[in-house]
Amino acid sequence: TPNLDIRDLQVSIEDKQILKGVNLSVNGGEIHAIMGPNGTGKSTLASALMGHPKYEVTGGSVTIDGEDLLEMEVDERARAGLFLAMQYPSEVSGVTNSDFLRSAINAKRGEGNEISLMKFIREMDKQMDVLEMDESFATRYLNEGFSGGEKKRNEILQMMMLKPRFSILDEIDSGLDIDALKIVAAGVNEMRSPERGVIIITHYQRLLNYIKPDFVHVFMQGRIVKSGGPELAERLEQEGYDWVKEELGIVD
Ligand code: ADP
Ligand code: MG
Ligand code: MG
Repeated sequence: TPNLDIRDLQVSIEDKQILKGVNLSVNGGEIHAIMGPNGTGKSTLASALMGHPKYEVTGGSVTIDGEDLLEMEVDERARAGLFLAMQYPSEVSGVTNSDFLRSAINAKRGEGNEISLMKFIREMDKQMDVLEMDESFATRYLNEGFSGGEKKRNEILQMMMLKPRFSILDEIDSGLDIDALKIVAAGVNEMRSPERGVIIITHYQRLLNYIKPDFVHVFMQGRIVKSGGPELAERLEQEGYDWVKEELGIVD
């Protein structure tokens, strides 16, 4: 089964250490939620895994199906099956949503194995239905003029089309109203399969009412400090993070 294994990962930005030994192993079929206070390094973890050049790995290892992820270029990581949906997706002028998606899919499939236009359209129609997206989205420019909620939905559409083995959803719930939240959750749930693992980074428990995680991790001071099941998310929602700090003797 697919496996993403993060061991003692240490990452610095501009010589400041942000990640201080992250340990996390995700298997196919599993959904892991990472919750934690702002500014503790959750997005840094996501960016470092994707290979953002600003984030310097200073220690530890990451493997995807046994292969060294940290040795891979950004596009190789995507081909190896890693996908990141971001808090603030960027706009791309002059490229339509469907063109972008089709070239992303074909980049992943490789030369000589391109998806047929018919099959692509059928698949895109199907997934846009799940996400209750208007047909016009296919021909609009990528993220241009999209509302916050539309951008998030579009990121989930990309995920559903690319079928990555490991998806990282970084605060995909921020700024979504409850209806959009449910639709986004439906998309993620539709993707659930033994072939795929998901990491959901979220500040709030409410998304986890609609996507049941198998594991919940508390992220503080640049590492995972506590892990448990869904009940951990509920306790964090009710009691905040102070009890975790007390329990672990964390001073900040
Ligand atoms: P979280 O996602 O948990 O809110 P981040 O990973 O965004 O936390 O940020 C962790 C720390 O790293 C913060 O102190 C933040 O200011 C710093 N940081 C993150 N990204 C950058 C960057 N591109 N340049 C400089 N500092 C950064
Ligand atoms: Mg933040
Ligand atoms: Mg963040």
